[in-house]
Order: sequence, then structure tokens, then C-alpha cells
Amino acid sequence: MRKRIYLCLAHMSGKEQAFIQEAFDTNWVVPLGPNVNGFEKDLEEFVGEDKKVVALSAGTAAVHLALIACGVKPGDEVICQSFTFCASCHPIVYLGATPVFVDSEPDTWNMDPELLEKAILDRIEKTGRKPKAIVPVYLYGMPAKLDEIMAVADKYDIPVIEDAAEGLGSRYNGQVCGTFGRYGVLSFNGNKMITTSGGGALICPDEEAKQRIMFYATQAREGFPYYQHEEIGYNYRMSNICAGIGRGQMTVLEEHVEHHRRLADLYEQLLAEVDGVTFHKRPSEKYDSNYWLNTVTLDPQLKVKGEEEAYAQVITGAVGGAAGVTHAAGTAHTDCEPNRNVEAMRIALDKAGIESRPLWKPMHKQPVYRNVPAYTNGVSEGLFKVGLCLPSGPCVSEEEVAFIVNEIKGCIHA
Ligand SMILES: *Cc1c(COP(=O)(O)O)cnc(C)c1O
Repeated sequence: MRKRIYLCLAHMSGKEQAFIQEAFDTNWVVPLGPNVNGFEKDLEEFVGEDKKVVALSAGTAAVHLALIACGVKPGDEVICQSFTFCASCHPIVYLGATPVFVDSEPDTWNMDPELLEKAILDRIEKTGRKPKAIVPVYLYGMPAKLDEIMAVADKYDIPVIEDAAEGLGSRYNGQVCGTFGRYGVLSFNGNKMITTSGGGALICPDEEAKQRIMFYATQAREGFPYYQHEEIGYNYRMSNICAGIGRGQMTVLEEHVEHHRRLADLYEQLLAEVDGVTFHKRPSEKYDSNYWLNTVTLDPQLKVKGEEEAYAQVITGAVGGAAGVTHAAGTAHTDCEPNRNVEAMRIALDKAGIESRPLWKPMHKQPVYRNVPAYTNGVSEGLFKVGLCLPSGPCVSEEEVAFIVNEIKGCIHA
């Protein structure tokens, strides 16, 4: 029997264990040490642009600390792309500030620069103050319209925190994503471009900013022989063990990116002949996506076998195999969900041993953010209803992509 094909699995280079062994041998089993320094140096070399990098316990922690470094305080507003994973915006709430969601444009699926400017002007008019930061996201690795977004940010002099958690290895105009704004967020969770089992990093503009971030990441300790605290800090530094995995992973990052791109080419080519299923490709060569996850959209008219029964059953557990999911869904429906043909295709692929997943549900459609200001144009909500993420990454072979596309064809009514 064919082994199950997952959305995106971690793939080891074989060099990770030597770095971990060294940490044990030299007794550096702590949240600092030679692997942490080495991993940061590797990342700094990779991103270039004279940037400095701090390794942290998670990408979410990197977002949180970047917001603090941009001076976000209770009562402030921060503009964030609505079409994203919740880690882009939850830390805004941790700080007692309010996210202001901005919808996407249809080319890259990322923050719409025109809507961004409208949102800034309207917030200034309504509150008398500028938003404190702008958080664009590189959804599924696709670079955003950075020239346009940076022009708006510069015009109103608002710092940009790029959420490049999904965009490690993506480039815009030849420049590494995460190096355009004041700060850039990276994630090394188990399913991202590379993994440290769990972890993240913040790309900082200079050494001074890096030192400041490290200060907040290690409980804000002042320079005394005892624990003196003048500010609130966090325990967010990466462990030397995780950083050892990261150093091993850095040796295969470029290889992984190339593999993701090869699969994207193949999906594009094979899906070109499937009516009603559209591969999401980059708008032009300027947008050098890492294709972290390959995505498709389904024509609402497309008839998928079994779509009458889609949503008939209440799903138990949560997407992503999350541990600690305590809220069982009481109903199979919400007021904003993927179309029935999309859910039917997800179920059909699942039965064939293929994991697929809906796109991120826009934050402005999430009940927890129901009272938050949002500037929308229908793009992210429309995409959420028709989109599906397909298996990607180094654990998926080209032969498996052909199998997946065949199964997609097989579940469509002629
Ligand atoms: C994965 C991810 C993050 C960071 O997540 P962690 O799991 O905390 O590393 C942030 N933003 C986006 C868009 C992500 O996909």
C-alpha cells in the first residue's frame, strides 16, 4: 500500500545529530550557546543586506518582540494582513493593542497596497493617530507587492514587520523576503521550510536592535550581579539543542527551496489540463516564491463526487492535528466555510491517503476578531471558499504529485 502523503513534513539533512551531540558533549543544553550563535550566523549569511538575526523559541515570539520593538502599547492600533495564520495578529492582542485587518489583492493573495493606504487614512481620521506598525504576510511563500506596500509605509512613516514565516527562501526583485521592512519574522515550526522542531527568528536592522530584542527575549535582565528588572521581559530565546537542528537544516535550505519550486512547476503543468481547477502561480518572475505550499482554487461550478454529503458530519479534532483541542465543534457549519465541492475534494483526497487543507480562514471572519476594524474587498473571503492547499516539500516526490493530480481528476464528475 502507498504511504500517506502529508501536506508538508520536516525533512532532515542527516547533519542535525552531530550538532546536537556536540551540545551534549560540551554541556550546552541551555537556551544559548555555540549552536544558537552558529545558527544566527548562518541565517545572517543567508538573508544578507547587513541584517542581524536573533533565534527565538517560535515565530509567534518573533512577531511579539518585533511589535514591542516598534513601541506598540495598550490602546495602539497595528495594521495586519487579514488573510493569514493567527500568529501574525494574536501578539498584537497580547500587548493590549488592536489589530486593524486589511484584505488581499488577487495576484499574490497578500496585503492590498491601495486598501492599506485607505485603512491608514481612515484610522487617522477616526482615531487622530497613526497605526504603530504594518504586518504584511507572504502567504504560502508568495512575496507581496513590496514596492507598493513599502511606498505607502514610507509615505506615512510607519514601520513594517514582514511576516516571512512561510517565506524563508522567497525573493522579491532578487532580495530575500524578510529584509525589506524594519523587522522580519521567520518560523522553524515542524511544517515550515526548515524546522528546529519548533522555533523562530527575528531579522533585525542592526546590532543595536538585535541586542534590544535579546534583552526582551531573556526576561529583561539589567547589568547587575543579581536579578534587577526595570522592564517586563519574556522567556523567548531558542535552546541550543533546537539551534543544532537548525544548523543542520541550513545545509539543505536551498535544496528544499528548489524541490518546492520543482513540485510547483509540475503541479502547474499537470493541472493545466484539468478544467475548473486553477493552480495559484506567481504573477511574474519578480515574485520568486518558495512555494512553501502549493495551492489551487476550484471553480464553484465544478462538480465533485460526493459533494452532496460534504459537511454532513461534524469533524472531531482540529485541523493541523493540534494537541489540546478542547472545544468540540457543535455544528458542521460556520457562516464562512469552503464551498461544498472543496470539502468534497478534501474528503476524497483524504480517502486516497492524501492530506490537503483549506486556505487560512481570514482573520476578519474569525469570531474572536468580530469587533475589530477591517478594510475588506471580498478577495480573501472569496479565496477561502474556493481554495485548497496540496502536499508540498521535500517529502513529496514528483511521482506522488502525478498521483495527487490523478486523484483530483478522478473525483471530478465528467
Ligand atoms: C507559522 C507561522 C507563524 C509563526 O508560527 P510559530 O508556529 O510560532 O513558529 C507566523 N505567521 C505565519 C503566517 C505562519 O504561517
